[in-house]
Amino acid sequence: MRRLLIAGNWKMHKTVPEALELVRELKTLVSDVTDRDILVCPPFTALYPVGRELKSSNIALGGQNMFYEEQGAFTGEISPLMLKDVGCSYVILGHSERRHIFGETDELINRKVISADEHGLIPILCVGETLEEREAGETEKVVERQVREGLKGLSPESELVIAYEPVWAIGTGKTATPELAQEVHSFIRGILSDLFSEEKAGKTRILYGGSVKPENAKGLLEMPDIDGALVGGASLKAESFAKIVKFDLEE
Ligand code: PEP
Repeated sequence: MRRLLIAGNWKMHKTVPEALELVRELKTLVSDVTDRDILVCPPFTALYPVGRELKSSNIALGGQNMFYEEQGAFTGEISPLMLKDVGCSYVILGHSERRHIFGETDELINRKVISADEHGLIPILCVGETLEEREAGETEKVVERQVREGLKGLSPESELVIAYEPVWAIGTGKTATPELAQEVHSFIRGILSDLFSEEKAGKTRILYGGSVKPENAKGLLEMPDIDGALVGGASLKAESFAKIVKFDLEE
């Protein structure tokens, strides 16, 4: 069985004091959760203090991006060694904001995926179509290309997470219906099966992301191929993120 993973992507939000306040509150709210993985991905400046605060807790730490080299003349970039150094175990790669605002290509994202894996970080590869692509009937073509190109050369033994995030549903309040998301998740699992093996595809977690909130989490997370959520806006408040984490544990 795949263990659920509920991940919070804080994006460019939270100063260090704000980040510590959020994570302290969250720690208390989810301290009794043992049957699923919880992850927060703060901005780079808050990783170290948040990582210290999370030591011996049930919440893991992740980066929102990284460069593929270990060190060097790459002004403004963060390396996999640096993420490991501050306690990260995961890294989000290829988020649609990286693709669309910062021009990241499948090739660049693939180099990052390989590097993250080589350095012991679990890559969370984000894929998803824009509204124009969906309306043009290109969802499967786009998602398939992003998955295949993003994972090129990755060993079948490596742990990885995929996040399906339809671009039209990110930060817009428009959520994909559970049925629509399930359809794409199942399609992605088929690609993983073809790329690696049925066994590997069956073990790999595929998260859904795009306006996930406490009100819609249950419907999405109960779908057979949805193994967790990547949450943006609703992860910025401890209470709403904790409610998503506990979508089926409390009424
Ligand atoms: C995201 O940032 O990955 C995301 C899904 O954002 P939101 O939940 O705000 O739509």
